[in-house]
Amino acid sequence: SFRPWQIDKKVLTTCPHCGTGCQFYLVVKDNKVVDVEPANGPSNKNLLCVKGRSGSFDFVHSADRVKYPLIKNKETGEFERASWDEALDLVASKFMEIKKQYGSESLAGFACSRSPNEDIYMVQKMVRTCFGTNNTDNCARVCHSASVAGLAMTLGSGAMTNPVADITQKPDLIMMVGSNPEEAHPVIGMQIRQAVQRGCKLIVVDPRDIDLSKKADIHLKLRPGTNVAFANGIMHVIIEEGLQDMKFIEERTEGYEKIKEIVKDYTPERVGEICHIDPEDLRRAAIMYAKADKAPIIYCLGVTEHSTGTEGVMSMSNMALLVGKLGREGCGVNPIRGQNNVQGACDMGAGPKDYPGYQKVENPEVREKFEKAWGVKLNPNNGLHSTEVFPAAIEGKVKGLYIYGEDPIVTDPDTHHIIKALENLDFFVIQELFMTETAQYADVILPGVSYAEKEGTFTNTERRVQRVRPAVKLDGEMRLDTDIIIDLMNRMGYAQPHMTSAEIMDEIASVTPSYGGISHARLDAGESLQWPCPTKDHPGTPILHVGKFSRGLAMFYPAEYVPSAELPDEEYPIIMMTGRMLYHYTTRAMTGRTPGLMEIQGTSYIEMNYKDADALGIKNGDKVKVSSRRGQIESTARVGRKVSQGESWMPFHFPDGNANWLTNAALDKYARIPEYKVCAIKIEKA
Ligand code: SF4
Repeated sequence: SFRPWQIDKKVLTTCPHCGTGCQFYLVVKDNKVVDVEPANGPSNKNLLCVKGRSGSFDFVHSADRVKYPLIKNKETGEFERASWDEALDLVASKFMEIKKQYGSESLAGFACSRSPNEDIYMVQKMVRTCFGTNNTDNCARVCHSASVAGLAMTLGSGAMTNPVADITQKPDLIMMVGSNPEEAHPVIGMQIRQAVQRGCKLIVVDPRDIDLSKKADIHLKLRPGTNVAFANGIMHVIIEEGLQDMKFIEERTEGYEKIKEIVKDYTPERVGEICHIDPEDLRRAAIMYAKADKAPIIYCLGVTEHSTGTEGVMSMSNMALLVGKLGREGCGVNPIRGQNNVQGACDMGAGPKDYPGYQKVENPEVREKFEKAWGVKLNPNNGLHSTEVFPAAIEGKVKGLYIYGEDPIVTDPDTHHIIKALENLDFFVIQELFMTETAQYADVILPGVSYAEKEGTFTNTERRVQRVRPAVKLDGEMRLDTDIIIDLMNRMGYAQPHMTSAEIMDEIASVTPSYGGISHARLDAGESLQWPCPTKDHPGTPILHVGKFSRGLAMFYPAEYVPSAELPDEEYPIIMMTGRMLYHYTTRAMTGRTPGLMEIQGTSYIEMNYKDADALGIKNGDKVKVSSRRGQIESTARVGRKVSQGESWMPFHFPDGNANWLTNAALDKYARIPEYKVCAIKIEKA
């Protein structure tokens, strides 16, 4: 507790939870963050949600922070405190031994999407210059990699096309597909609710009843995994009604004839059967969307996290292209990115096929440019996606792994196979704030630094690069993440001078055309910049594809509906979806250390339909055993009508019953994203 006159300072920074990128002040007293106050940021306009307001500082001062390097004693299996020299020498020498013995491709390193751009840039630079591989990735692989791949293929740029303010304040209609922003991106959710209160129409396409579906003009409560069929049905009706924008199609797109041919078979009646929706509702939704002047599509993981996720994303852009709703105000195709800096992690080149700025590893000219900038010969081969690294570790092909701030045991599908992979590694290093479930499998743990203790930038979901500023000093012998990475690089034989965060951003700008004009100095002078921002005098680009698509002409990419990889059967008769809830963020590493949030919801639960519950003799609040072909957990039943009969939904935040013991690691063929949104389970009374 504190009195206003006891405060030492207020530091303007960016929320560390979701991709909305809300601006707030950290209120500091005696080198401790004691409160958070909202600021008037471009995407939050003085609004904050419960996670930003209450869940953004307890974890910074938590007693269980890792504060010094730890090395696992091979004999006892216990972690022991080590000096920095001991730990860094061990890490560098082990990785270089593995490289010498098994080659560069036996190493991999993942960057943390919750960290600043500058840290992420250095991680991928270390992997490429020191490990000598492109086996680098970030957690976008398991959330929006399908957006990056899909929108790059159709439009030329894999990012949200329009700013948050534009798609909530300008539209006549919002089409929201597989997105529950009031829980996952609450400040965007609040602005959508305000838009509806002002008279904006709303179409919700989601297998669950969510709070915004109660406000919707139409709720298409479709069967999980049928997005492509739904979008094809919408396009069928638009073409049948003659509502397509032929001028836009002829001047700015290619591939129209192919899509017209494919969607011919997706009559509302057929789509109604596939998606379990009323054909008349589909018809009404298509006509409403086509006739609205300004109508953005907003989508999220309900579209991407499928074995056909990339085709789902391309289907979103197919719909918008058909009616010319791209490259202008209040429209567009808008994936709302998950983690605070997952957009930045992709922008910074933490991916196996792209250098910073989505410049292709396989392009010899691009590679030559980076070889010149970084002064080393670079590996010409695309690397493994993170979802491929774990199977490769099980096969013994990947032997050494460095993870910066990720907890795949909690977040990745099919937990057993992640544990098997980690146990099979010769050497595993993690850089982390806490002793997470994944950290327990490491050989070395290096202490990580929180957003409240360091400089840098996060790039939010609308491509806006925003400052992160230190509010409190580092404790004891803790060191900045970039200093640790740079020390490792030097020990592995790459001469990397120590740099400040601002200097690293200058290097990023020098090799990344879309960030070419971005610097800490400009941001600190009050400029608000959305990439592409190619030059120092460029004002940034709020709306993409105005007048011309990033790839020249946009491409219609037709896709047939393909059912999910694992469908219910007699043994496992219920579909399970996973998702996020308002009070927690992903692994709960941060929000789980805020007592108030844990009091509201601190344990696992599974939503099931009352008809299924009745048939199984299960009542609301009963303990249940939930199992799939991959594992079994216990949870608590929430019985009601939110999900349809034969379907269920579970959050994945809680260790007492983590849904990822059950989920299926079936991968999308383009982005290698796993199918979190559909797996087959059975539920029994415990
Ligand atoms: Fe933080 Fe997202 Fe909440 Fe904004 S909406 S306060 S960015 S968690």
